[in-house]
Amino acid sequence: PDPAPERVLKGIAAGPGAAVAPVARMAEPPALPEHEPAVDDPVAEENAALGALDEVAAELDRRAADLDGEAAAVLGALALMARDPDLRRQVGELARDGRPAAWAVHTACGRYQDLLLAAGGYLAERAADLGDIRDRAVAVLLGLPMPGLPDPGHPHVLVARDLAPADTVRLDPAKVKAIVTRLGGPTSHTVILARSLGLPAVVGCPGAEHLVEGATVAVDGDAGTVEVDPEPEVAERIEGRAERRRVLLAESRGPGRTADGVPVALLLNAGEGDPDEAAAHDSEGIGLLRTEFLFLDRAEPPTVAEQTEVYTRLFRAFAGRVVTVRTLDAGSDKPLEFAPTGEEANPALGVRGFRTSRPHPDLLTDQLTAIAAAERAAAAEGPSARVRVMAPMVSTAAEAAEFAELARSAGAAEVGVMVEVPAAALLADRLLRRVDFVSIGTNDLAQYTMAADRTLDGLPELLDPWQPALLHLLAKVGRAGEGLGQPVGVCGEAAADPLLACVLVGLGATSLSMAPPALPAVRYVLARHTQAECRRLAELALAAEDPEHARKVVREAAHPEAVLL
Ligand code: PEP
Ligand code: MG
Repeated sequence: PDPAPERVLKGIAAGPGAAVAPVARMAEPPALPEHEPAVDDPVAEENAALGALDEVAAELDRRAADLDGEAAAVLGALALMARDPDLRRQVGELARDGRPAAWAVHTACGRYQDLLLAAGGYLAERAADLGDIRDRAVAVLLGLPMPGLPDPGHPHVLVARDLAPADTVRLDPAKVKAIVTRLGGPTSHTVILARSLGLPAVVGCPGAEHLVEGATVAVDGDAGTVEVDPEPEVAERIEGRAERRRVLLAESRGPGRTADGVPVALLLNAGEGDPDEAAAHDSEGIGLLRTEFLFLDRAEPPTVAEQTEVYTRLFRAFAGRVVTVRTLDAGSDKPLEFAPTGEEANPALGVRGFRTSRPHPDLLTDQLTAIAAAERAAAAEGPSARVRVMAPMVSTAAEAAEFAELARSAGAAEVGVMVEVPAAALLADRLLRRVDFVSIGTNDLAQYTMAADRTLDGLPELLDPWQPALLHLLAKVGRAGEGLGQPVGVCGEAAADPLLACVLVGLGATSLSMAPPALPAVRYVLARHTQAECRRLAELALAAEDPEHARKVVREAAHPEAVLL
């Protein structure tokens, strides 16, 4: 029998796969009691407040010691923040002024956060970390459970209001079987993380706040559902599906093909990290190299020599495969200290991406010089990659022409632009005449098409890549590519959703680029559909009323083996 409706929560399908496990909740940040008690002994309050900060720092250090790499570094940085002498001085002063310990910590951290937010950029991002320190120290002082990731000591479904980046790097995929969050949209960092760990996830899920610690839930990351206390048959079905998925995906190898053998290159989205590790994934190359990692958090831009060295290693590691280098995509949510763009009321609509080269032309020309030099250096050492360059946030054919001219005169053989702005999608044929290929960034294209900020969590349904309006724009780009016989890639999060990937191919995409763990499922599902079937799925999605309807009709029309997955 069908379960009662209230037992099934519905959210946004954000990481494919399914799992059944007990809920482990992330403790909510502690709230201060409404009434601030009077203080008898300010020195005792000062000691308690500073002691709580010490305890938080020690706990973070302990957790860092169990981890390595980025996760340990993030925790180490948090611990340092808890020991920051300025912060401690402010906490001490407030306590000596008569504020109870928890209030002193709360107020001092709040002031510090305001300072960071006012400084903007990288520092503003650290404000969330300070919130983490504050919540932990206040929890210690109020005797409440420490906020942050739970560790029930067994496999679980992690349920949270939202996940902070500092939490997400610490997730242990051996223990966390699935993620469910109350907030978060389809392109939020939670989703990007879940995909990069290959975890089933449902985000933007109303009712998640009522899931009880320890209750068994069946999470379906493809349908976007969370079923509480599933019937044994349901649990068995989901577990069977998870097992079947493991087996099938382990067998999914080789280049991307439709069922009738039409090649669709399956590529990686890559950034910071070991090139050899990236190259070890079964992919046909890199479809999006986010080069920002070379530029962010620095006082000066990297030199041409430094960039050349990084790109050379990558081109060597991907010998015989394609590497698509995206030029610097700074500005907006990724400001650079050395390339200020001035005050902007709407930074996402401001000087970002390719536009950054207007006030700072050298950043782009130096990067293009380094890419070309690396291509020569790698080829001189032996087999190298097939290098392509593309610019982000191009809006007009004139900008595409300008970039192509710069890239070709630097020595680039294959030049493209990203389609992330509706204007570029609408006139994709004109852009394509200026370049060799385009690659659609669906994350930004969704935010600009729907006028919905991708960094806000409150607008998930508008940012859903299944929005018919977005798909109509993608169709326009696909047709332009087909008409001109030129490649059209997709490198936004949309490409990582297996059924949507088939729709994209039906709309004319010739390559798909995604986080590595998404590759096997996309490859498997694509291989179950002919090109004509992909076209049919695309028509159904284009005709759908809304994202949910689009998902439903495509699921119903898809190959049964693809949906079973
Ligand atoms: C996109 O916008 O879809 C994209 C791939 O670029 P980024 O996510 O780096 O902005
Ligand atoms: Mg983008």
